[in-house]
Amino acid sequence: MATEQTAQAVRVLIVEDEPSIRRFLKASLASHGYAVFEAQDAQEGLEGSVSSHPDVIILDLGLPDLDGLEVITRIRVRSTTPIIILSVREDESDKVMALDAGADDYLTKPFREGELLARLRAVLRRFALPEEAAVFRIGHLTVDFSRHLVHMKDQVVGLTPTEYELLKVLVSHAGKVVTHRQLLREVWNKTEDYEGGSHLLRVTVSNLRNKLEPQPERPTYILTEPGVGYRLHADSF
Ligand code: CA
Repeated sequence: MATEQTAQAVRVLIVEDEPSIRRFLKASLASHGYAVFEAQDAQEGLEGSVSSHPDVIILDLGLPDLDGLEVITRIRVRSTTPIIILSVREDESDKVMALDAGADDYLTKPFREGELLARLRAVLRRFALPEEAAVFRIGHLTVDFSRHLVHMKDQVVGLTPTEYELLKVLVSHAGKVVTHRQLLREVWNKTEDYEGGSHLLRVTVSNLRNKLEPQPERPTYILTEPGVGYRLHADSF
């Protein structure tokens, strides 16, 4: 049977104050090939959400030092990392509030290992790059991933491989802020402290806008989130 094991393990941050649940999660995930990081309260969790560079965060809503909803909100200010909520609360409104605050999925304790792994795979799949056959459309922009073709107002737009990769990452997170760090990692495979990285990013975004935007100086597709990153417009025009 296939496991989650890949050349580069998926990084999971567990934020949970109950040691027994943390141990259970760690053992389950590690045995399925995930790289596991632990935090036992909100403070550690918020620090870990940056320092561990997680691909997904599993977050207990009932933490001793800060409400889980507040933790989600604080993470979402600067990150689009998928968040799966753990809670003993059965209440539907808590689930909605958590999802509204930016969580991506929800598990109610007690849960089985199979359920956890299935949710984890589903969230990672949703956040993975678009499937080969997918065609993305917003406004006059069309990205055909199967044919590597980008159209603006029915005209083919010639992109360099790097420009195409950047657009692909923005499309795969359409509507959500993608941080500078995330873009450098996903497009160039560089860390944030890579010398010249921010310049490289700015220039590539600028070139992409010149090719796609009706008014590049007033972008309507690739929006700037000052000091944080970029966001692809995903609402209907
Ligand atoms: Ca708890």
